[in-house]
Amino acid sequence: MVNYRYLGRSGLKITELTLGNWITAGGQVAQDAAIDTVHAALDAGITSFDTADVYMNGAAESVLGKALDGQRRESVEIFTKVYFPTGPKGPNDTGLSRKHILTSIDGSLTRLGTDYVDLYQAHRYDHETPLEETFQAFADVVRAGKALYIGVSEWTAEQLTAGHALAQQLGIQLISNQPQYSALWRVIEGKVIPASQELGISQIVWSPLAQGVLTGKYLPGAAVPEGSRATDEKGGGKQFISRFLTDEVLSAVQGLVPIAADQGVTLSQLGLAWVLHNDNIAAALIGASRPEQVVENVKASDVVLDDDAKEAIDAVLAGAATTDSALTEEVSPTTRLV
Ligand code: NDP
Repeated sequence: MVNYRYLGRSGLKITELTLGNWITAGGQVAQDAAIDTVHAALDAGITSFDTADVYMNGAAESVLGKALDGQRRESVEIFTKVYFPTGPKGPNDTGLSRKHILTSIDGSLTRLGTDYVDLYQAHRYDHETPLEETFQAFADVVRAGKALYIGVSEWTAEQLTAGHALAQQLGIQLISNQPQYSALWRVIEGKVIPASQELGISQIVWSPLAQGVLTGKYLPGAAVPEGSRATDEKGGGKQFISRFLTDEVLSAVQGLVPIAADQGVTLSQLGLAWVLHNDNIAAALIGASRPEQVVENVKASDVVLDDDAKEAIDAVLAGAATTDSALTEEVSPTTRLV
């Protein structure tokens, strides 16, 4: 089964492997297969699920709602997000204004078929809305019982510190940040993780397998595998994964093969265990285009990498991994998207 970790300085436990449905549900993967993947996750012991209103314009939330229909609500943890424009993309359909937050939460709850989400996350930092307005709106969402906890995604150390102070003043809990993190993308190690440790904020990290690249299935100089994310036009996967598909990165990843063999695990399990080695990470947020991938990947919860194995991985990927902490700032647009 999958181990639980506390989310930030809170009493909420989540599964250290949490299933997300970006690109897959409502996009790359047919609805039945997406639902089967959620059921495989539940069977394997995953109880925490992440989505966002913007994923396939609401369709991913609807698929997750259908997949979890009939589950005991107390036994699953559901996370969603607000910020990016959905629907007709009017001037108030984006960002973290009071208007956008208070209307978006209701849309998300309807699509998810639930009265509340466990975690409501600011998908990016909004440079155009006063932070006080955003946190007052989040506090109202929490007090209305529509979300239990607040999280953010891809915020810098300074933004996390400011948000945390406001949350405390308002008596709500900001307990998580959701950044990209993997053995190939390590930009949060310099500033975000140290600040979060002080604040009592955990990371729930996205693309822990670098969108599948750390499974080792993409080979340098070879055609990408049929049906993989690198071939996905519908959900945009082909474009998102492209930054990792260089010969330099793919050759370095092949250097992990003997390390995985030595540990008696697959490359996917090795990549996830590498992420979970850091105790500021509450969960690796895995994606899956089919149930078998979940079955393989959950076994990472039983893999404990010792420091020597971790260092061996770091050494093999040293030239291929991105570490510049300034890159966190570039992820949140400075002006509204519509
Ligand atoms: P991963 O790095 O885990 O990549 C998942 C993909 O890798 C799968 O869909 C599959 O793609 C491939 N894969 C996984 N396991 C295996 C395996 N064992 N064998 C072969 N292929 C495998 O994570 P994602 O990039 O999917 O991101 C995970 C979640 O993170 C999202 O669903 C979302 O919830 C969240 N996220 C958040 C963002 C944010 O801004 N906050 C941004 C992006 C994601 P395939 O079979 O198609 O090749």
